[in-house]
Amino acid sequence: MPATIGVLALQGDVREHQKALEAAGARSVAVRRQAELESVDGLVLPGGESTTIDKLLRIFELHEPLRDAVASGLPVYGSCAGMILLADRLVGGITGQQTVGGMDVTVRRNAFGRQVDSFEADLDVAGVTDGPDDDAVRAVFIRAPWIEEAGPGVEVLARIPDRATDGTAAGAAAGRIVAARSGRLLATAFHPEVTGDGRVHALFVRLVHGSRRS
Ligand code: GLN
Repeated sequence: MPATIGVLALQGDVREHQKALEAAGARSVAVRRQAELESVDGLVLPGGESTTIDKLLRIFELHEPLRDAVASGLPVYGSCAGMILLADRLVGGITGQQTVGGMDVTVRRNAFGRQVDSFEADLDVAGVTDGPDDDAVRAVFIRAPWIEEAGPGVEVLARIPDRATDGTAAGAAAGRIVAARSGRLLATAFHPEVTGDGRVHALFVRLVHGSRRS
């Protein structure tokens, strides 16, 4: 049986994630209600605007159920705004902004600078580019966060290289953590759903399959 993986569908690029999950062999459903959350084997928190998603999570009464689901071991993959939601600690949030938490990391919101709308880099990602298909991952960062500090239980999967894809120096971004895993939680600061490279979603689908009880 394929795993059923939800995509939180309150705001953000939901369809693209659903397509990428299906291409990786999962069944995918949109999640807007607690009952839908309870029916999935894993969940994607898409990119979008973390402040808006945070407010909507509370309006839709999903904040607590999601926190409980993460605490009880639901595999969750957060991309960009989704990575912000998974962080135990947030720097650069707006007043009153909450995260769901679960990952022992400090995430800096809009870390690449407000003036930098988009930044692209070719990344080595552990678990993705160390296999037979070792091409770098073209990572697209859109007003992206980075992980400023990661606790001892967090596995760093990727860091920003010294240069962006167009050759410009990465400056203060060089060496920053932009993909990480902690138990059943996976986070990327970038958006793999926009490039057609399905390998990050495939990694998450494997993680979900590996954590299913039967
Ligand atoms: N800057 C956004 C935020 O704070 C994240 C951007 C994204 O998800 N592409 O939520």
